[in-house]
Amino acid sequence: MIPPAVMNELRSIVGPEAMIESAAARRAYECDAFTLVRHSPGLVVLPGCTAEVAAIVRCLSGHGIPFVPRGAGTGLAGGSITRADAVLIGLNRMRRIRRIDLRNRLAEVEAGVANLAMTRAVASDGFQFAPDPSSQQACSIGGNCATNAGGPHTLKCGVTVNHILALEFVTCSGEVRRIGCEQGDAPGLDLVGLIVGSEGTFGIVTAATVRLSRNPPAVRTLLAVFESIGDATRTVSDIIARGITPAAMEMMDAGVIEAVEAAFQIGLPLDAAAVLIIEVDGVAAGLDAEAEQATGIARANGARSVRAAANEEERAALWKSRKRAAGALGRITTSYCTQDGVVPRSELPGLMADIAEIAARHALRVANLVHAGDGNIHPILMYDERDAEQTQRVIRAGEEILQACIRRGGTITGEHGVGVEKIDLMPMLFSPADLQSMLRLRAAFNPRGLCNPHKIFPDTKGCWEIYKPGKRAAV
Ligand SMILES: Cc1cc2nc3c(=O)[nH]c(=O)nc-3n(C[C@H](O)[C@H](O)[C@H](O)COP(=O)(O)OP(=O)(O)OC[C@H]3O[C@@H](n4cnc5c(N)ncnc54)[C@H](O)[C@@H]3O)c2cc1C
Repeated sequence: MIPPAVMNELRSIVGPEAMIESAAARRAYECDAFTLVRHSPGLVVLPGCTAEVAAIVRCLSGHGIPFVPRGAGTGLAGGSITRADAVLIGLNRMRRIRRIDLRNRLAEVEAGVANLAMTRAVASDGFQFAPDPSSQQACSIGGNCATNAGGPHTLKCGVTVNHILALEFVTCSGEVRRIGCEQGDAPGLDLVGLIVGSEGTFGIVTAATVRLSRNPPAVRTLLAVFESIGDATRTVSDIIARGITPAAMEMMDAGVIEAVEAAFQIGLPLDAAAVLIIEVDGVAAGLDAEAEQATGIARANGARSVRAAANEEERAALWKSRKRAAGALGRITTSYCTQDGVVPRSELPGLMADIAEIAARHALRVANLVHAGDGNIHPILMYDERDAEQTQRVIRAGEEILQACIRRGGTITGEHGVGVEKIDLMPMLFSPADLQSMLRLRAAFNPRGLCNPHKIFPDTKGCWEIYKPGKRAAV
């Protein structure tokens, strides 16, 4: 589908070793971690530097060929899915940390640097890149910028946009721009704020100047065990209502506990309905009192036990169980689909009941991972993707869960983005006039719609409509 003349031009930019051309090799890029939609790109190119990205974009836009940026491919909404008429631009060879400036608490990193690699590079100096998505071992800083990624600890420290000072950015016509300001707020419009979260539809991030945060001087990590999900989620809103802002407040239900114990055997109670990991951090003085207050609130809500991690090893085991929980679920199901929605914290008990009812009605098994402090739910629907009818039930159940979020005053994504997965739900959330305003803004950056087409917005050729299982039109 990609004309041979264009292939030759691209080969001369990146070299033949950075082109993935064969059908078999392109299949590795047919989906991200949202596996309900799969389609091989027409070609994959792997540029090694910003100049190559810019030259690729100039070539493709000159020929009117669509292109899609991709980082590590851990996205959970199908944001980096392409069609056979498009070129996938993989940024994962661009892994250089260009500069670390601890005096000014910033670092400049290329888009393909993994999130955790950034933190590891400054950890021995007592710093971190604070956004910590559970996929942080693999996901890229470029992908974090595109999705405005969150994570367990973004409850207190804020999501990716709060930690990006400036961007190096290739526009949709192939020009290299520097956006933002290393000293903080730049005068004029907040273009960094616009680009972060635009899901790769405004152009390509080639590097980011990130804010480095001091590691907290002291931390207390609690594990509270509950007989009911309602008690666990009520604890969450009570803790926040009492004026405590924990660094993180994460819930895992019985389904997740079962998977995590099968994988890691860290001693979570298999007979519990849910556990909450509650972490408070800051200066040591007063931290024990805060932990005791949180413990009291959990007990008042019926926690059967609350214990503090005795040492760093125990704390690390708890976080390993949480951050690797999705992977652990692979042990107990053939396929799974991770949903992402948000409700006001106080609506969590009701929403968790909605999720249980929806899953039961569709005869699906569900396990719940919840960034509970943020009201951000991740129900994980388990199924067998070889069964087309079951797959359709997963899609319907996912949509119903997100509709329940909207009814309860929430929204359809907390951190994974809209991608192709949630396009059909956008009109439930926004009026036609609101959607038009957003499309006009996108057109200012991406006037011909060549950069990551048919994502986020229900345009006339919605990708989801094309790719929906059972509706795989020839493209
Ligand atoms: C097990 C697991 C746990 C997860 N936990 C979390 C979590 O806690 N919090 C969270 O927010 N997410 C989480 N995610 C989702 C995912 O990891 C994040 O969305 C992450 O930010 C995606 O990064 P990536 O490099 O994999 O991007 P990709 O999947 O490659 O791409 C995601 C989107 O970003 C665009 N994009 C990628 N790179 C660029 C670039 N350089 N310039 C412009 N656009 C670009 C793509 O076009 C696509 O639209 C999880 C995923 C998995 C599989």
